[in-house]
Amino acid sequence: MVYNMKASANEGRGASTPKTEEKEKGIRLVTELPGPKTKAEVERAKKNNAQVVYQMFPDWEDESGSGSILYDADGNHFIDMLTGVGVNHLGVCHPRIVDAGTAQLKRLIHGNDHVAHIPAYSDITEAVRSVAPEGLRNGKGFWGNSGGEAVEAALKAARQSSGKPIVIGFRPAFHGRPMGALHFTSGPAGRINLAGLMVGAKMADYPYEYHGVTAEMSLESVEKILKYEVRKEEVAAIIFEPIAGEPGVIPGALHPTWLRDLRKFADDNGLLLIADEVQNGLGRTGKWFGVDHSGVSPDIMTLGKAVGGGLPLGGVLINDKVDSRWPKGSHASTFGGNPVACAMGVETINVIKEEGLVERAASEGAYIQSRFRELADRYPIIGDVRGAGMLIAMELVKDQDPKKPAKDEAGKIKMAAWRRGVITSVTGSDSNVIRIAPALNIPREYVDEAIDVIDQSFKEVLA
Ligand code: PLP
Repeated sequence: MVYNMKASANEGRGASTPKTEEKEKGIRLVTELPGPKTKAEVERAKKNNAQVVYQMFPDWEDESGSGSILYDADGNHFIDMLTGVGVNHLGVCHPRIVDAGTAQLKRLIHGNDHVAHIPAYSDITEAVRSVAPEGLRNGKGFWGNSGGEAVEAALKAARQSSGKPIVIGFRPAFHGRPMGALHFTSGPAGRINLAGLMVGAKMADYPYEYHGVTAEMSLESVEKILKYEVRKEEVAAIIFEPIAGEPGVIPGALHPTWLRDLRKFADDNGLLLIADEVQNGLGRTGKWFGVDHSGVSPDIMTLGKAVGGGLPLGGVLINDKVDSRWPKGSHASTFGGNPVACAMGVETINVIKEEGLVERAASEGAYIQSRFRELADRYPIIGDVRGAGMLIAMELVKDQDPKKPAKDEAGKIKMAAWRRGVITSVTGSDSNVIRIAPALNIPREYVDEAIDVIDQSFKEVLA
């Protein structure tokens, strides 16, 4: 780590983009954080942008990047262990994604699938289908602009195709912030002054072994909804995230039977299964999709984040049962399935395939988990280490008691790591889970450097 206040003294805005030989050096801190140019940017953002958005790093701006290194305006370099929250599977500005996007930009920037068929729209469906779970290998694609829109489309497809009004979700869960998806997203903050939101939604318990909720208890809570609350004839679907990212990387799909039993329950009762793969999808968890850990095929699968190669794209893959009954003309989007985003998403999938990055995510993720377990041996505040592939978390608790979340410490460790040049995040219903989601191709030396920084940050905060 270099700390040289003079290095950035005369650099202009944008001058922090490194020369090639600087790219491999990992963390470089040349100013106090935030540096002067960053401070000015932060002030400008405060003047311009609605304050409604919670900022994970309120005094930081992310100006540019290369692979797994992010640069601020002052020339500080950070190791990115978060990838814009699970979007940049290949790091920032992967050359092949840039080339694919540039080529498409020159052909057609916008075309509306509502007006005419767009080749890139078919390309992304075919690309996703080529790696999809067995039951969706012939699935049909609908493309919108974000993960939230993907969930909206999934809910509409389930309800409109089945003719039934109710969808069962889990607690805790995160499926996005639009008003439909918000029905199934836990947490009071996003629901302030939105009373009455829960019409048509029923909630079961997500399996959370560390908090004493077993897979069996989770399934029982689903069964109880049909036993005590609504008739199965009124229920369209069950929506779940295979590994629940925002709620704290809770690995439901890693349980040997939970998802299979859920599939059987859905089939026995005539319900559709919606797998929200927005955060899990495209290799993030060391399999192409989160459901692949269980061998279960959903009827509807949502996609977002990495599927646009960094541009806004989100959508669903649906099986024939849903597609054939989703009334024609009942859904569409002006910008959805933007051809540039589709082309960049296709190239992302190509690179992941060609470079074996799903397998790498699995093996590198196992290495990271083993390093986190070493930290847990030294810091008893780490109550649980969990995850799969490159979606990994440490839950912080006091007195080794899952009911005593160490929220303050988690926040301080995240900020201490940032001050030392590493980007992580804090998530979970009690804001006590440190979560990382690095690029699938992040070099081992960055991983080691970042974990050393996280170690130092624990030491500093717990001293
Ligand atoms: N579903 C899941 C599982 C997510 O993790 C997210 C975002 O983090 C969403 C949906 C919403 O995606 P977006 O923020 O693109 O609307």
